[in-house]
Order: sequence, then structure tokens, then C-alpha cells
Amino acid sequence: MGRAKHRSSAETRLKGVPLAPGVAVGRPCFYELHHAEPDSASQAGPQRETQRLGNSLRWLARQRSVLARKAEARLGPAHAEIFDAHRLMLADESFQSQLLRVIEVKDCSAEEAVETELNRYMEQFEAADSDYLRQRGADIREIQQALLGYLNRRVACRHCRDVAACSVGHCRQGNDHILVGAEISASLPIETDKHTIGFIVEKAGPNCHAVILARALGYPVIGNIRELPGCIPPDAQILVNGDTGEVILDPTEETLSRYQSVFTTGGQSLQHSEPVPGLKVMANIEQSADVHDAIAAGAEGVGLYRTEMELLAAGRLLSEAEQAARYREVVKAMAGKPVCIRLLDLGADKTAQWLATTQQGHAVARQRGARLLLARPELLREQARALARASKHGPIHVLYPMIVDVRQFIELRALFDQAVADLQPRGLQHGVLFEVPAACLAARQIMQVADFGCIGTNDLVQYLFAEDRGGGGVSGHTCFETDALLWELIQQLSQVARQAGKPMAICGELAGNTDFTCRILQAGISAISTSPSRIAKVRRAAQI
Ligand code: PEP
Ligand code: MG
Repeated sequence: MGRAKHRSSAETRLKGVPLAPGVAVGRPCFYELHHAEPDSASQAGPQRETQRLGNSLRWLARQRSVLARKAEARLGPAHAEIFDAHRLMLADESFQSQLLRVIEVKDCSAEEAVETELNRYMEQFEAADSDYLRQRGADIREIQQALLGYLNRRVACRHCRDVAACSVGHCRQGNDHILVGAEISASLPIETDKHTIGFIVEKAGPNCHAVILARALGYPVIGNIRELPGCIPPDAQILVNGDTGEVILDPTEETLSRYQSVFTTGGQSLQHSEPVPGLKVMANIEQSADVHDAIAAGAEGVGLYRTEMELLAAGRLLSEAEQAARYREVVKAMAGKPVCIRLLDLGADKTAQWLATTQQGHAVARQRGARLLLARPELLREQARALARASKHGPIHVLYPMIVDVRQFIELRALFDQAVADLQPRGLQHGVLFEVPAACLAARQIMQVADFGCIGTNDLVQYLFAEDRGGGGVSGHTCFETDALLWELIQQLSQVARQAGKPMAICGELAGNTDFTCRILQAGISAISTSPSRIAKVRRAAQI
């Protein structure tokens, strides 16, 4: 909990508005948002400015895509829609052409076009009658600031008493801290590291997306504290009470002991739980550092490591050595427990400019998962070699994404084996992610040659019912997760695996939804992979 010092001097109390419940104590970390002014000096003619604008829009759309996937993994598809909406706005043709028109007509810089045009949008939202619409103005501001940040090549940074500047999501000090800032952006609660345990903001409403996300992640948030950050000394210890809106600076020992039993651990409210008989619960992770959450939650393994997120987060391809280092970290940390590492599931919405650099260009980037790996064997080769190197440190199960038939799996496996022939990998298992209906229909054949299977319910639901990911139950559509056809398919896959004498796990949103835990067990599946924060809940649901 990071209470470095207990003080006996008088404490100071500030009163704000409670926006998200919970109580936490930590050091202040001051978060600076971009306040980039339009930089007219950078103007280099309409053609160049148009190009700069296009680059910034594409960059931000990709960044939002990564955030959407992170939000989906931690909170489910409804929360991912916040970032998907940002992405759709950035890709909207009339939005883009309006910005381009401003550059042409005003003969101004990309920064100035972003500043003036998005200010116009914000004014429209701020003039709305409904509070809900007024709070959407915050999304426009976030998009504006991020674009300006990119164009000016500035990054948001955080600083505390001890360190001049850390990048968002990486506290170099490792102190538990309360983020203090004028505003809170929607990306912030998703991007912060495990040391962040609460937020104090000057301006925010209960319905802005940033607060909705912070609340869902379990962070206490207090708004409307005036004269921030000046009213909080950098060396203070702060107690935030998100239930009452109270901020206590340098709480006395008496105060701390009064709150002792109610301290939350913010977004990292990872409850540890012990395994339950008859059900193996593993963790989904997206980056190697997430393995510590898996361990803290008591996961019986890593059931899904979405390795493409490492590349998307880095914004570039990673070398064999860089990938091997990440996989090694996870495998070593899991100390003998199985680690299921998915081959790169890139393409479609998880794409990036750096992916389409070879002769085939965009046509390749539009393919996804297995198909993309077959079209870009050098990607598979590097990753296979990295996995083979990491396999010396513990058991690795390699999961093949978006497989459509047995031929595709055999072809990829052959390429994998070829790539690692000189490395003598140790005990690698190769399995298929059943997430495309065609592969499910071919499951009997596939399970003859695969070592294990895993049902990926997110894409399976999408492709089975022609429904956008996250559409069911979120936008008022039918919830396909309860459809009898889906459950018949899950049951069939489980039966096929049993007959082949091979394990079959389940992952995706449905797997972590406790409404379905018993149904999963009844379908004959006894291995679930879900986000670390849901492991304890799933285990509890299995015992009812
Ligand atoms: C799935 O489709 O269910 C799955 C686990 O993969 P992702 O969500 O990464 O597409
Ligand atoms: Mg999938």
C-alpha cells in the first residue's frame, strides 16, 4: 500500500466531488496533459500539412485500436466501444475532409486545423441540453490533444517528488500513487501501471468516459478539487475517499487505522484465489509484465498470451531476441505452470503501417491471423525461433489463431518446425484456437494432428452469427452468447477433444462471464482462460 511514513502532525482535508468509489492511500504523481498550442511556425505548405494530418489521424486510429483491445480484455466489449468510437470518428470521411478543407482554405498548419475544427465540435457538444452529450465533449478534447501531441511530437508525462518524468504507464519509482491532474483522459485508466491506485482531477463529470472506465476498473476518483496541483505538496501522503469526495493530506496514524479495513487497491484490485477441484483457471495476458497480475490472482497458467499486443504497443516489429526476452520473462515467472502463447494474430483491425512494408502491401495487412502468417512467413519464423529459445525455461503451448482448416494448421506447423530446426526447442505443444466456424466443423480432423484446442468465443460468436464483436447485449441486439446453437457447438468441440484424448480450453469474453461458468463445466470444458481480475469470480461461480 506504499505508506512510507506515518505522521502524527495535523492532517489537511480537501473536499471534492466523489466520482468513483473506493479508498486508497499513496503518493501524488502529477499528470500533465498536452496543452499544445497550434504551431504555425511548422507550416510547410498545404501538401505537406495534409500529409502530416493524415499521419496523425492514422497513428491515433491505431493507438485507439490497441486501447480498445486492452479495454476489452480487462473489462469486456462494452468498454472497448469507447475507443472504437474514437477510431470510427478518426476514419470518418466527412470528418477528415472537413479538416483538409480547413488546411486548404485557411492555408494553415495541421495543428491549427485540428485546434480550430475540434474546438468547433466541442462547442457544439458543450451547448447541448443533455449532460450526457456535454460530457462527450471530453472525448473530442482527448482526440484533439492526442493529435496535437503527435503533431508537435510531445508526449504526456508524469512526475512525482522523486523522478522528473516518467512516461504514462511506467512509474520508475514503483511507488503506489494517486494520479493528480487537471483532466483525466479515457486512455489514462487503461494505460496506467499497477502502481496507480486512484485519481484526483480538477475537471471531470461522472458520465465522462474516463470516469466510467476508472470506476469499472475499481479506481477511486475525486473531481472538482480546486487549485490543483498547487494544493497538493509533492511529498504529501494522500488518502482519497471516493465514497465521500474527501482528500486527506498527510493522514494521521489514527485516520489511517480507521480506514485500514477499507483500502482498495485501485485498478489492481486483484483478488488472489486458490484453485478449485475440477476446474483449471488460467490468465489472459497481453504484455509480459502482465504475468505478475496472473501470479497475484493465483492463475494456474497463462491460457492466452496475445503476443501481437506487444508489437502494437511498441509500434513496430520486434526482433527475435526482443520477443524471446518477453516470452522468457513470462515462462520463468510462471515457474513450470503452462504458458499458452498465441502466434501473432495481426491483420484486420489489429494492423499497422509497419506491417505492410513488403511487396504485397495493404492486401496482406487486411488478412488476419493464420492467413497473414502464411503470407508473411518471416513474421512466423522470427516468432517461432523466439518461442523455441524461451521453451528452454518452461512449458510453452503455441496457439495458432484464426485457423480455418486442417491444411492451414499443418502448413503453419511445418513452417514453424523448419524455422526452429537448429534450436532444439524443448517440449513445445501446438494447438488450434477454434474461433472460425469452418475450423469447428473440421474439429475432428484438426484434433487428430493438434496437441490441444482452445475455443475463442469472441471471434466465434462474431463469425457464427455475423455480429460485430461486442455487439451482442451491448447495443440492444440479441445476446448471442445464450444461443443454443453456440452451446451445441461448444459441447461438440469438447466431445471431439475428449475422443481424441486431448485438452480443450475456452477463452474470450464468455469464458470470464460468471453467468456461464456452470454451463461451460456442463459442456465438458474444465479449463478456462480469462483476465486476472476475473479469476477469483470464476472460481467462486464454479463452486456454487
Ligand atoms: C477470441 O476470439 O475469443 C479470442 C480469445 O481472441 P481475440 O479476442 O484476441 O480475438
Ligand atoms: Mg480471436
